[in-house]
Amino acid sequence: MPTLEIRTRERAQFVEITAEVQRLVSAAGLTSAAAIVYVPHTTAGVTINENADPDVVHDMLLTLGRLVPKDAPGYRHAEGNSDSHVKASMMGASCHVLIEEGRLVLGTWQGIYLCEFDGPRTRQVYVRFLRDS
Ligand code: ZN
Repeated sequence: MPTLEIRTRERAQFVEITAEVQRLVSAAGLTSAAAIVYVPHTTAGVTINENADPDVVHDMLLTLGRLVPKDAPGYRHAEGNSDSHVKASMMGASCHVLIEEGRLVLGTWQGIYLCEFDGPRTRQVYVRFLRDS
């Protein structure tokens, strides 16, 4: 299965992987298809959002941090990363992207992000293609 290995550098970080996913699409020689981009992790997720203004990612991380603080009364999970688990589920473990004429179909401002919430770590991103029959 096509796999990306992504090294993250911060505890919470969005790493854009659009170009890497497009390389897998190109290597597979796909024309009309779809891609499932999936992370096999419980403290990282994947999402599609703006890649033009880096302040958008900054503001998303800021907002997630406000909504789900690292330390909050009542957390029980002994590993001490309950916020990471919650944020990962908020983003989701996968996203779908359409492929047309060998290219990811993304809006002008859209990029695919691995969302790290308990880094730095090395993360896997699995990509499965669904070909039109
Ligand atoms: Zn944990």
